[in-house]
Amino acid sequence: MTELDLCIRNARIVDGTGRPAFGGDLGIAGDRIAAVGRVAGRAKREIDARGLVLAPGFIDIHTHYDPQICWDRLATPSIEHGVTTVVMGNCSLTLAPVRPGESKKLVAMFSRIEDIKEPTFAAGVPFSWESFPEYLDHIRAGLGLNIGALVGHSALRWYVMGADSQERVATDAEIAQMCTLLEQAMAAGALGLSTSYVDIDENMKPVPSRFADMREKIALCQAMAKSGRGVLQTVPYFIDVEEQLKNIAELGELSRAAGILCSLAPIVSSPLGGDAWRRSLAALEAERAKGGRVYAQSMPRTFDLNIRLSETSFLLFGLPTWNRFMSLALPERVSAFGDPENRAQLVQEGMMIAPLLMAASVGEVFSPENQDFAGRSLLQIAGELGRKLPEVMLDLALADGLRTEFCIRGVIHADVESVSEILSHPLVHIGASDAGAHIAQFCGAGDTCYLIERFVREHKKLSLERAVERLTGELARDWGIADRGVIAEGKFADLVLFDPETIARGPEVFVGDVPGNGNRYLRSARGIEAVIVNGALTLERGRYTSERAGRIV
Ligand SMILES: [Zn+2]
Repeated sequence: MTELDLCIRNARIVDGTGRPAFGGDLGIAGDRIAAVGRVAGRAKREIDARGLVLAPGFIDIHTHYDPQICWDRLATPSIEHGVTTVVMGNCSLTLAPVRPGESKKLVAMFSRIEDIKEPTFAAGVPFSWESFPEYLDHIRAGLGLNIGALVGHSALRWYVMGADSQERVATDAEIAQMCTLLEQAMAAGALGLSTSYVDIDENMKPVPSRFADMREKIALCQAMAKSGRGVLQTVPYFIDVEEQLKNIAELGELSRAAGILCSLAPIVSSPLGGDAWRRSLAALEAERAKGGRVYAQSMPRTFDLNIRLSETSFLLFGLPTWNRFMSLALPERVSAFGDPENRAQLVQEGMMIAPLLMAASVGEVFSPENQDFAGRSLLQIAGELGRKLPEVMLDLALADGLRTEFCIRGVIHADVESVSEILSHPLVHIGASDAGAHIAQFCGAGDTCYLIERFVREHKKLSLERAVERLTGELARDWGIADRGVIAEGKFADLVLFDPETIARGPEVFVGDVPGNGNRYLRSARGIEAVIVNGALTLERGRYTSERAGRIV
């Protein structure tokens, strides 16, 4: 019998297939699961898991760790939330391919769309690669978790077509070149392609992927499918539901033409969007009936946001004056927001987001005159002072050098019944965490624990077995992540050990640990006892070990 490196005893095993939990031991030899059930003999290391659940490591299919993984091979804090595989390169954006010395455009787009600032790229991302396979080679060494890498359509198109990628459809020769590059990336281990129907760049211009016609998209999907796998991840034109429905129909066509799975992110329930989510789910079902595999992604968390005028905020993109000021360096930004000449215009525009500001409370404050406002509702303060919401927001922010935190809670994707309905739909994958992006507005990591905390334990909308399957087996199967996502002999030993009674996401904290003097929201977890990546015990009771056994998957 093979000698075991690690044995986890007396666990309640939830194996990721959805079948009922069972008690047993699990033995690991090298990077694989060697035995499940009753395991005889002693392993080099033994863990007693009485009272704990042992599940396959969670998979997060929607992250933007592409830059962060360059300076943080652990993709913090995802592992702390039981995640052993993250998919990055979503939403048409990747950091490869890129021509030497021409990273500026990719950085500008990434910075605008995902809120990773340019000084952070300058300090943390070396751009020492050109091709996608070279980028994978760069990040491979020392990975603490597994990476599934999508190729960004906008990056690919810009590489081949330059500035023309934001002007016109591609020629046959250009399409052929993109296909060759994509096939090379797939051969090097990429998981698929990502595209966007909605994003705009730093100059408010549609990103390159939005100029692609159907013949380009079909060619790319078919090229990708030659590898035997491949997912097309997309962001729909969610601003207008009619357009989003057209996107879904187009994805159905692409899925059928290339035999691939298309993934649409996100679907959210929001009082601002009415029944858009219901109509979108119906459209997914209609494509399914026609033989297309189009899935949506949705997340368990309420889409809560924090705004600090000293950082970035996509909520302000639609307010022209605010948006312009937000692009200024901090000292100029303070002057612009504080200039009485601009006040009337700022207040008028600010009323456009009044429904969100009504749900805002004041979080962290800095100046002595703001201390009494901390923790209070912005609406209440505005009522007491007899002023408009944006005025109060501006005054508080200006007193703090714009650093005041405004916390918008409980508006978007907050209704438990409709969110449960979305999360239980067979054509919805748990995803859309956006971990690694928008880091000065929220921490996207933590949805995994939160699904169990909120929808299994608190509201009893899902069984633990089904929740685990949604976070593991189902995603590995549908996204082509081989030999992961379930607990069975011979599979990779990606595992999470947790206490089902206490597993939860912790509160967000704002920290300044991002290269280039950047800040981000982080969140810890509760109830996660251990995380094992490819057989290596990587996190134990909240602490990282020195193991770095992650792979490109
Ligand atoms: Zn995204």
